Amino acid sequence: MTDFTCTTDAQGVATITWDVPGKSMNVMSLAGFAELDALIDACLADTAVKGIVITSGKPDFAGGMDLNVIARMKAEAGDDPARGLFDGVMAMHAVLRKIERAGMDPKTLKGGKPIAAALPGTALGIGYELPLACHRIFAAPNPKAKIGLPEIMVGIFPGAGGTTRLVRKLGAMMAAPFLLEGKLNDPATAQAMGLIDELAEDPVAAARAWVLAAKDADLVKPWDQKSYKMPGGAPYHPAGFMTFTGANAMVTGKTMGVYPAAKALLAAVYEGALVPFDTALKIEARWFTHVLMTPSSGAMIRSLFINKEALEKGANRPAVADQKVRKLGILGAGMMGAGIAYVSANAGIEVVLIDAAQDAADRGKAHAEALLDKGVQRGKVTAAKKAEVLARITATTDYVALAGCDLLVEAVFEDPKVKAEVTARAEAVLPDTAIFATNTSTLPISSLAKASKRPAQFIGIHFFSPVDKMMLVEIIKGRDTGPEAVAKALDFVRQIRKTPIVVNDARFFYANRCIIPYINEGIRMVAEGVAPALVENAAKLVGMPLGPLQLVDETSIDLGVKIAKATRAAMGAAYPDGAVDDVLFWMADQGRLGKKADAGFYTYAGGKRQGLWQGLAARFPLAEAQPDLTQVQHRLLMAQVLEAVRALEDGVLTDIREGDVGAILGWGFAPWSGGPFSWLDIISATQAVDICDRLAASHGARFAAPALLRDMADKDQTFYTRFAPAKAA
Ligand code: NAD
Repeated sequence: MTDFTCTTDAQGVATITWDVPGKSMNVMSLAGFAELDALIDACLADTAVKGIVITSGKPDFAGGMDLNVIARMKAEAGDDPARGLFDGVMAMHAVLRKIERAGMDPKTLKGGKPIAAALPGTALGIGYELPLACHRIFAAPNPKAKIGLPEIMVGIFPGAGGTTRLVRKLGAMMAAPFLLEGKLNDPATAQAMGLIDELAEDPVAAARAWVLAAKDADLVKPWDQKSYKMPGGAPYHPAGFMTFTGANAMVTGKTMGVYPAAKALLAAVYEGALVPFDTALKIEARWFTHVLMTPSSGAMIRSLFINKEALEKGANRPAVADQKVRKLGILGAGMMGAGIAYVSANAGIEVVLIDAAQDAADRGKAHAEALLDKGVQRGKVTAAKKAEVLARITATTDYVALAGCDLLVEAVFEDPKVKAEVTARAEAVLPDTAIFATNTSTLPISSLAKASKRPAQFIGIHFFSPVDKMMLVEIIKGRDTGPEAVAKALDFVRQIRKTPIVVNDARFFYANRCIIPYINEGIRMVAEGVAPALVENAAKLVGMPLGPLQLVDETSIDLGVKIAKATRAAMGAAYPDGAVDDVLFWMADQGRLGKKADAGFYTYAGGKRQGLWQGLAARFPLAEAQPDLTQVQHRLLMAQVLEAVRALEDGVLTDIREGDVGAILGWGFAPWSGGPFSWLDIISATQAVDICDRLAASHGARFAAPALLRDMADKDQTFYTRFAPAKAA
C-alpha cells in the first residue's frame, strides 16, 4: 500500500501524487509521512529532477492528519510519552523543513529545487501545513473546497509547523482567526487572505510551469531572509505588543481559560515570535506535546472526532438493508417542521410539508426560502440551487400527498390527542412499509405509538432548535420499535449530515433529562440567595457556553413553568423541585418570560441581552455567606453528569460514546472535557464519589452517588475502560 507515488517528466519535473488507497479523502498517517520523506530525498538527490509538484490523485488534496494516529502515538509512546510525542513531532518538522529548504545552501540560499503544491480541492490541517512548507501554493478555484487549519476545534492546534509558518506569513493578528478559531476558507477567499498564492483551473499545470521558471530567490521564504520582519510587528515592537496583549485578553475572554489548546497556541505564537524560525518550530513542538499530554485534548479528539464520526457512520445501526429516505412527509409546518423540511430538501430529499391550514404550510416553506436567501446573500448558495431545493418542498394541507412517502416526521403541537389524530390520518395514506417518526420532546414514544397501527415502525426522531444549526439528532426507540425503523432514522440523519444518538424511551429521553437539572440547579441557587452573577460565571468558567439563567431566558420561562407543572403532575409527592418553582413561577407572574419578552433573569434592550436583572434581589435577597466558586461549579456539573450516569444505569443510554457526543452537540456540555463520562474519567470515579458525598450531605439526595459510580470507584475503573473497548475495537 503506497500513499505517495512519484513520476518525473522529460523536462525534469517530478510530480508526487498523494492518493491513499481505499479512501475517498487523503489523510496523513505516519507510514505516509515516511513515504513522502523518502520520495523527497530521492527527488532532491536525483540530478534529473529540476523541481517538484506535490498534488493529489483525488478530487481533494487532504482532510488532515489521521487523528487516530495521534491518539495511538500518545498511547504507544512508552514510559515517557511526552518524549515520544516530541520526538515524533520534531521528525515531522524535519521533513517539512527539508521541503522548505529544498537542498539550498544555507549560507548563500542558492541551489535549491523549487517545490510547489497543487491543490485540486479541500486542504485541511496537515493537508495545508504541507503546502505551507512548499515554495508556492496553487489551488483550483473550487467554491466547495475548504482550506485551513481546523485543529483547534478538536482541542489541539496546528503542530506540524502550521502555527509558526502562518504567523510568520501573515502576522499574528491576521493569522489569529485561522489558528484560534479554525476558520476555513474557499480557495478564492484563501487567496485574498494570503493563505495560498494563486488560483488556477489546472493547478498542476500552473505549478509545473512555475517550477520550470522559478529562480533561486523565489524559493527563499521571507523568514529565511536576513531582513525578515514579522508582519504587524513582533511582540517587542510597539504594534506587536498591542496585538499580543489584545489577543491574550480575547482568547481568555472567549475560552474562559478552560481550553488548554488555545492557551498553548498563544504561548507558542508569542514565544516563537521572539526567536529564529527553527527555534520557533521547537517551541511549537513543545507546546504541541504539552497539549497532546493534557487529558482534555485526548478526550476532545475521542468525542468530537473519532466517536462522532463512528456514530455518523452507523456504529449503532442494526444490520438491515439500506433505508435511505426518498420521499419524506412532515406533519406540522411550525418552527420544527419547517426546519426539518429545509435540511431535508437541502440534502436532496423530496418533502411533503403538511399543516392544518394552507397559509401555515406556506409559512413553513417560506422559512426554507428565507434560509436559502441568506445563503444567496453570502454567496454560498446559487439562485439555481435555491430554486432546486424549494422545488423539492410541496407545502399542502392534503394528506393524499403523503402517498409514497417512506418516512414521516410528525411535528404538530405537543398534545397527545392532536398527535394521535394526525398519526391515524397519515397512516391511512402512507405505504405499509413507511416509518412514522415523532419529534416530540416530552411525550413518551411508547404511549404515542399506541395511536399507530404499526408500532414496530414507530420511532422518535428528536431534533433540536434551530434545526438548521443544531447538529445532534436524538433517535428514541419505543417499547415495540423494530430494527428497520432505527436503521431508517439513522440513514435519514446521515443523509442530512447530522450526528445521531440512539436512546431508549424515558422521560425527557437523554439531552433534556440532563439539561433540565442544570437549569434547575442554577435557579435553586438563586432561591438560596447565591449571587446570580456567581452562578452564571461559575458555569462559564467551567466551559458551559451559557449559564443556567441565560439558558432558561433563551428557552423561555413559561416553557420552564409548563415543564415543571407537567413533571409535578406525573411525579406527584416525589416531585423534588418546589424551591425551583418558587423562583420560576414568580418570574412568570412578573411577566419576565425570558428573552422573547425582553425581560427575564437578564434585562434586554431591543432583544439584546444587557446585565443581570437587579430586581430579583428584592424577592430573593443575596445570602450573607456566598459559596466558593468550585462548589457552585461542582453543583452545576454534577446536576448534569449524574443524570447522564443514571441514564446509563437505567438503560436509556446504551453507549457512553453517545452520552458524551450527545452532551456536547445537544446542549453544549463543557466541550473541553469530552463530555460527562469523559469528565468523570478525567477526575476519576473516586474523586467523583467524594464530591457527590459532600454535596449530598450539604444539598440533598439528588447528589447521591449512583451505585454504578460507587462500584467503579471501588474497582478503580474508568467509563472508557469499563464500557467502551468492545465497541471501540
Ligand atoms: P409550533 O407550534 O411552532 O408548530 C406546530 C405546527 O403544527 C403549527 O404550524 C400548527 O399549525 C401545526 N399543527 C397543529 N395541529 C395540526 C394538525 N392537526 N395537522 C397539521 N398541522 C397541525 O411547534 P414546534 O416548536 O415546531 O414543535 C412541534 C413539535 O416539535 C412538538 O412536539 C414539540 O414538542 C417538538 N419539539 C420542539 C422543539 C422546540 O425547541 N420548539 C424542539 C424539539 C422538539
